Amino acid sequence: MSNAEKYVPNAREQAFLDAVENPRYDRQSINGLTPFLEERAPEDVLGFYSTDEIDALRSLKGTERDVEARMPVKITRHYFEMAKRSPALQRLVKASPEETRNLEGAEDPGFQMDYSPVEGLLHKYEMGLMYVTSTCSAHCRFCYREELIGRKDIERQDGSVAKKGLAQIGAITDYIRSHNKLAADNGGRHPQSGREKLREILLSGGDPMVLSNTKIAAWLAALAETGVEAIRLGTKELAFHPDRFDGAFLSMLDRFHETYPDVGLRLMVHFNHPDEFLAKDDDGNYFEGASGILEWNPGAKRAMEGVVSRGWISVENQSPIIKGINDDPDALRIMQRAMKRVGAENHYFFCGRDIVAHKAFNVPIERAWNILNESQKGLSGVETHARLSITHYKGKTEVVAVTNGPIPGVPGSENGVVIFKILRNAADAPERGKVCIVGRNPDAIWFDGYADRVIFDEAGLFEYSRVEAAGSEGAVAVGADGAS
Ligand code: SF4
Repeated sequence: MSNAEKYVPNAREQAFLDAVENPRYDRQSINGLTPFLEERAPEDVLGFYSTDEIDALRSLKGTERDVEARMPVKITRHYFEMAKRSPALQRLVKASPEETRNLEGAEDPGFQMDYSPVEGLLHKYEMGLMYVTSTCSAHCRFCYREELIGRKDIERQDGSVAKKGLAQIGAITDYIRSHNKLAADNGGRHPQSGREKLREILLSGGDPMVLSNTKIAAWLAALAETGVEAIRLGTKELAFHPDRFDGAFLSMLDRFHETYPDVGLRLMVHFNHPDEFLAKDDDGNYFEGASGILEWNPGAKRAMEGVVSRGWISVENQSPIIKGINDDPDALRIMQRAMKRVGAENHYFFCGRDIVAHKAFNVPIERAWNILNESQKGLSGVETHARLSITHYKGKTEVVAVTNGPIPGVPGSENGVVIFKILRNAADAPERGKVCIVGRNPDAIWFDGYADRVIFDEAGLFEYSRVEAAGSEGAVAVGADGAS
């Protein structure tokens, strides 16, 4: 065992950890398709899949189109109860033979591993993203971490092949301290990579909320001790099992804030559709309260109130736009309005990534832009903060606009154009604001759909190479510097 693995909390961390409670959370999760195939799932859940659906999935077992080999199946009781009344939610968690009809795609979309200096950490911009677990309470079929959740082998840039490892507190905190010291000693930027201080760290996975309160608390305290400015916790648990946000968890957060009052806490929540948090009657209609306000289901309401009532926690929703789930302007309009009303921000909507089998889930880029644009008609300014982002290898990119008509005198714009803008690069932020304009292709679901119609590319989206050295601080982008 290396020194990094023998992480020992200091007295302040230990005092915080000693007060953490760990209740047992009973999600009544159903793991895998076997309980359905062998009719061992609870009786009321068995009908979630029709006989035809089960027969079709059974016939793919053990073949290269086996849906569980692509992405493990999992659902909680809470999500099942909501999904019974929601075709969108059923599509989100139910396995379907459609998923493996076309297995094109990348096991490591955006070459994420190029930015992994330590196992379980992606270091991009001023941020670090950590894989602290490889599962969630339930599994979204469209998950763009299917390679992590499915524990698949990934080829790294040096040619080695291995499963993605999980972050270890000792190794990660050593890396943060070392990077930040070298940056500080060099006038604020790392001498080799040019990157600034690692200011913000995201606990991700998988969903950190499947870990015990003590494990989450240990991460929070250890990261706070390194001097990071903010910690993000990425979770879909408010949708999958909102009762996880109980008194014991919230008290742990309160004590964390008392112990480390300067460290910001950002809860990055993941709601895809209003059916995941609004109450519905048996006919599938939302309950409308006084003034036409739509009522939340009790569990999600309690959980959301628990976090937004703590003003020092910021709550931000982000969601991909996925075919058959939320490619629906009305649903997105309701969701953005409802989020803002309870104090959660609408952060990003995403175009899907080019994961394996992405064609089953991804909406064409121009359609996604139109859906979001339509959804924001009639919303107030503060309800429409969300932007549509698509993650290029080079960096996080916004789909700014899609035009219908030609730009006079500009060849290639006859059918209109799409304008992309770089929001951030992986190594630094020198190219923020630079744009790329391409001629329209309504079928494009990824950048390669525009490769033959680039009009203007100061952003360099179509002229880039991978970084030279996998993940090391010496990694310097060749014409670009990365993505998230
Ligand atoms: S919650 Fe996130 S990580 Fe978990 S299965 Fe869904 S998309 Fe994947």
